[in-house]
Amino acid sequence: MILVTNNEGTLGVPTTAALLAAGAGGLDAIEAGIRLIEADPSVRTVGRGGWPNILGEVELDACMMDGTTLRTGAVGALKGFLHPVSVAREIMRRLPHELLVGEGAARFAREIGAVTDDNLIEDSRRAWRAWFDHELTPEQKAAWPDTDLAELCRHAIDPEVGRDTTVFLSQDASGAICSGTSTSGWGWKYPGRLGDSPIIGAGSYADTRYGAAACTGAGEMTIRCGTSRAIVLYMKLGATVEEAVHEAVDDMRALRGGLISRVTIHAIDTRGNHKVVAVNGAGDNVYWLWDGEGEPRRCPAEPIVIGETQPRISPTARYTAAPR
Ligand code: ASP
Repeated sequence: MILVTNNEGTLGVPTTAALLAAGAGGLDAIEAGIRLIEADPSVRTVGRGGWPNILGEVELDACMMDGTTLRTGAVGALKGFLHPVSVAREIMRRLPHELLVGEGAARFAREIGAVTDDNLIEDSRRAWRAWFDHELTPEQKAAWPDTDLAELCRHAIDPEVGRDTTVFLSQDASGAICSGTSTSGWGWKYPGRLGDSPIIGAGSYADTRYGAAACTGAGEMTIRCGTSRAIVLYMKLGATVEEAVHEAVDDMRALRGGLISRVTIHAIDTRGNHKVVAVNGAGDNVYWLWDGEGEPRRCPAEPIVIGETQPRISPTARYTAAPR
C-alpha cells in the first residue's frame, strides 16, 4: 500500500491512511480525506475558504479516477457546493458521463442533495474587495460586472501562487490504484477557467496496471503537456516512476509562450515506489508519504528548474490572506 499527497493534503492524510490500513478501497479513503480539506476554511486553495475568481465568486474543480475500471468523475467551475470531490464521485457512479461543468454540474449537485455552501469566507471577500477598490477605474466600477475582464485578469494577482490544489494518489490493500484532486483553482481567475485538476490526463491519471500521477501548480502547463497521462504511459512503456516523471518534465521544456510557472508532479507505481518533483519551485515543496506502515511523513520534493517563471505575486502583497 502507498499514499502520496501534496502538502495541502495535511488535514486529510491521517484519515485516508487509517482507512487504507483498515482495508478500505482507495476511492473511499481518498474521498474521505479530501472532504476534510474541502470543509476547512484555513486551507485557502480548496473548498470553503478557497480564493474566488475575478468576479469574487468561488468556483471549484475536482476529480476522482478509479484505476481499475478507468472510470473517472470530474466537476469543473462548480459554484455553491461544499464537496466537489463527492459530486465528482457521484458523476462516476450515476452518470454515463465523466465531466460536468458550471450550471449543469450545479444542477446535478442539487439533484443528488449535495451539501450547499458559497465557500467565500470573510477574509477572501476582504482581499477581493481590496483588489477591486485599488485596481479598477471609476468607469469599470460603475459598469461592474459588465466590463472587459481579460486585461484585468492578465494583471490580477494570485494570492497563493502554486499551492492551489490538493492531490491524493493511493494503492489500497487490494492493489487498486486511485487518484483524487480538489481545488478552487487560481485566485482571480477568469470566470469559467478550468485548471488541470478536473481534466483527466492533465491534473491526474490512475491505472492499476501501471501507476498514477497528479499535479499541482500551473494547470495551464500540464494541460498542454497531458502530464499525468504521459507519466502513466511512460511507465507502461517500461520507464521507472522516476524516469517517467523526468520524461514528463522534459516535455515541459518544449513549451513556448503562454504561462510558464511552477508545477509539482507526484507519481506512484505498482511496486510501492514514488517520485515527487517541484518544477520551477521555490525550493520548499514538501509532500506526504505513507508507505503502508507507521505514520505518514513529510518529505522534500526534488527541485528542478526548467526556465524563467512568471510569478503572479503581488508586488505590494495587498491582496493576500490575513495572517493565521
Ligand atoms: N493546478 C491548479 C490549477 O491550475 C492550481 C494549483 O495547483 O496551483 O487550477
